Amino acid sequence: MTASIRIGHGYDVHKFGEGDHIVLGGVNIPYDQGLVAHSDGDVVLHALCDALLGAAGLGDIGRHFPDTDARYSGIDSRQLLRQVMNLIQDGNYAVVNADMTIIAQAPKMAPYIKAMVDHIAADLMVDQSAVNLKATTTEELGYIGRKEGIAVHAVVLISTINDVI
Ligand code: MG
Repeated sequence: MTASIRIGHGYDVHKFGEGDHIVLGGVNIPYDQGLVAHSDGDVVLHALCDALLGAAGLGDIGRHFPDTDARYSGIDSRQLLRQVMNLIQDGNYAVVNADMTIIAQAPKMAPYIKAMVDHIAADLMVDQSAVNLKATTTEELGYIGRKEGIAVHAVVLISTINDVI
């Protein structure tokens, strides 16, 4: 069988607003603000969902989970990620690896990275070694540097299931 591998990229931004915590990678992180969103605002998982959908040629998260749909109000974004993974599996693909970069001036991400990776690996049905998550600041430049929001880039590789080692 010919190997079929596909790459996808996702990008998302959410701005800070009222609240006392943010949710990233399914982890609650205490902060003096929240992230404004129709869902739980998990910008990490949204970028990852978009990368997966992109790899599979299935459009984007807004097409599958419109923010006009009350079913997704305040939803745990891990549920969205698992639904996206169902679509990936329906296409006979599995995840090879994922690499994500959180771009945020605050809060500090380091204490939470491992817990996020554990959640993401479980939802992607891969070993933790297949999930890389890192964080950077913008050296106080621009809207992220002014602590107005958080951006995330994600790339994933998917492969037809029989080709995954
Ligand atoms: Mg989003």
